[in-house]
Amino acid sequence: MKIITDERCTGYGQPGMAERPERITMTLAALRKQTQLPITWSKPAKVDDAVLLRAHTPEHLARLNEPVDFDGDTPYFPKIAEYARASVGAALEALKAARAGESVFSLMRPPGHHATRRHAMGFCYLSNIAIAVLEALATGTKRVGVFDFDVHHGNGTEAILLNNPGAAFFSIHQFPCYPGTGTANVGKNCFNYPVPPYTPRKEYRHVFEDALGHLKSFKPELIAVSAGFDAYARDPLAQETLEAEDFYWLGESLRKVGVPMFSLLEGGYSDDLPELILAYLKGVEGK
Ligand SMILES: [Zn+2]
Repeated sequence: MKIITDERCTGYGQPGMAERPERITMTLAALRKQTQLPITWSKPAKVDDAVLLRAHTPEHLARLNEPVDFDGDTPYFPKIAEYARASVGAALEALKAARAGESVFSLMRPPGHHATRRHAMGFCYLSNIAIAVLEALATGTKRVGVFDFDVHHGNGTEAILLNNPGAAFFSIHQFPCYPGTGTANVGKNCFNYPVPPYTPRKEYRHVFEDALGHLKSFKPELIAVSAGFDAYARDPLAQETLEAEDFYWLGESLRKVGVPMFSLLEGGYSDDLPELILAYLKGVEGK
């Protein structure tokens, strides 16, 4: 398993915010300590503006440097544009590794799936996954399936990839919940699976199975995964019921689709996050 990270991604934060540097530092410590899953470590790639501009407006890139908060969840931090670019760089490096046949996970922050073309929101500044998907499509891949199992709807990914004929987006998320979208399918290629709060694990897995079947029927050459771990039973930001073994199962199920894939960390705010990520990675690796 290749893990792409850069410890500098822990260099910003605000007391009381759920999306905090410890999400990464705790996970790094746990991954370094364990011996069941062999890991190779890699750094984010450099990112050109042209790659960002496929997904975002020039005004949005400029806005990231203005010292004004974006919304209540998404403060301005000094150098946030650099942190956000590094997170994109890790997504691009993950794409490269997937294409080389490696199992790969980007362990970075900020997350990205709420960022739209023009706006930072929901802890997200740049759309890591949409940028990587658009890069894949611009450099030879014909069909990319995006699977978003974060408990929140990937509204930004949806908005950026809407009606892109090379991409299909599948989001499984709690509704009602932040950001309040994702109740129905949108356009020709965005498929939403809203799940009520407190849905039993077994039923939640059935919804995943439906979405996975739909993903397979799209016949992707490549799968990009928005891996959020906040549908966990003890996550503080949502009301779902999944356990670590469900994330193992998700990793295993995605691997069994049998095409190259890469996963990027989105949400997951419980102190058990390292255990959940490790379970998922074992499933992806087939350990
Ligand atoms: Zn989330």
